[in-house]
Amino acid sequence: KKYEKEDILRLVEENDIKFIRLQFVDILGTLKNVAVTVEQLEKALNDEIMFDGSSIEGFLRSEEADMYLKPDLDTFEIFPWRPQQGKVARLICDIYKADGNPFEGDPRYVLKKVLNEAWEMGYELNIGTEFEFFLFHTDENGNPTTITHDKAGYFDLGPLDLGENVRRDIVLTLEDMGFEIEASHHEVAPGQHEIDFKQTNALRAADNITTFKLVVKVIAQRHGLHATFMPKPVYGMHGSGMHCNLTLKNTEGKNIFYNKDDKLKLSDEAYQFIGGLLKNARALTSITNPTVNSYKRLVPGHEAPTFIGYSTNNNSTLIRIPTSRGEDIKLELRGPDPSANPYLAIAAILKSGLDGLKNKTKAPDEVSHNELKEKNYSILDEEKSLPVNLKDAIMALSKNEVLKDALGECYDNYVKSKDLEWIEYSSKIHQWELNKYISRY
Ligand code: GLN
Ligand code: MG
Ligand code: MG
Ligand code: MG
Repeated sequence: KKYEKEDILRLVEENDIKFIRLQFVDILGTLKNVAVTVEQLEKALNDEIMFDGSSIEGFLRSEEADMYLKPDLDTFEIFPWRPQQGKVARLICDIYKADGNPFEGDPRYVLKKVLNEAWEMGYELNIGTEFEFFLFHTDENGNPTTITHDKAGYFDLGPLDLGENVRRDIVLTLEDMGFEIEASHHEVAPGQHEIDFKQTNALRAADNITTFKLVVKVIAQRHGLHATFMPKPVYGMHGSGMHCNLTLKNTEGKNIFYNKDDKLKLSDEAYQFIGGLLKNARALTSITNPTVNSYKRLVPGHEAPTFIGYSTNNNSTLIRIPTSRGEDIKLELRGPDPSANPYLAIAAILKSGLDGLKNKTKAPDEVSHNELKEKNYSILDEEKSLPVNLKDAIMALSKNEVLKDALGECYDNYVKSKDLEWIEYSSKIHQWELNKYISRY
């Protein structure tokens, strides 16, 4: 534990902070907050700030409308982009019910529960995310367009890369807030950027993701641009992923994925973890790739995965074993995209891996080039292909007890919300259909 109550009171006083935002996320991962003034800080730190849970997506259970925010003191951060007088800070909160127990439908609770389960098995998950996103122009009314501000590509630099300044501001702001950034660069598509975080423990990683998205949007807006984490904003170009680099540590902090004697330097546990991820992959995708649009990214030809397998050198497999294979060896899970609720996504990833460990699931062999060539991306190949749309993914989830158990109290509301999303999308008439059918029939 980093901070006690007294530390927060002192920090707020010393830094002349005027407002404290109490943050949490809804079931879709959308950041919510209430701002309290310093005068109410004592009350907030005594977990006495209340809100109406029935107005939050996925919390709807009217009999439990009154909920309490319990700030996690270690998440205290000052927002560097807010005015330097009357500063703003935030605390990420857990959600409690009126009876004093944690609210099981809180995504942060769902993650903590799986982290505990892992801890009891003697494991701790560390995650480093690679975040991709687009910067687009806005129109005269301030609405986002899909017009990019540059024509640069992978690893290009200024003056082609106009986003460089925005990215620099983002990185500096994040570092001010205690983030450890590993790298940042222009991505393949015009207007597309990537920022990579160093590995950290899973709860902190999820908290960081929510903060990161906020920072990127705010700073982009300050430069007159719109930042989007939509997975595939433009057809025919690369989409945006949120690759997760995973290692599992034992309670002494040793990476248990490493085995110097193995061909790929992976331990038995690492292969079992991979086995669990692959076995649960289709259901897992419904949580790591939660939108209709997510599935427009998971197609061949744009370095996004379609194939349920692992390899050392191919971008179209769900898992890649990176080339540097020392004691810090990681698994790169390439499926997740930035529209995922980070708490639910990380909970589901870990749960899938733990399932592999518990059942000593055998990982198949590394996918060969030929196998990838032979297998075409097709709705008929359910065994080796990631789901091709949200409906198939949700169907897979509904049949997967491991991941239903991971989502716990969030499961029903999650599936209900996705069911509605799919039905709304699939009942609308899209431009593609008009182009394809209106003259032909
Ligand atoms: N943008 C790709 C994806 O959708 C990844 C590209 C890369 O990082 N090589 O996952
Ligand atoms: Mg990368
Ligand atoms: Mg990338
Ligand atoms: Mg990557």
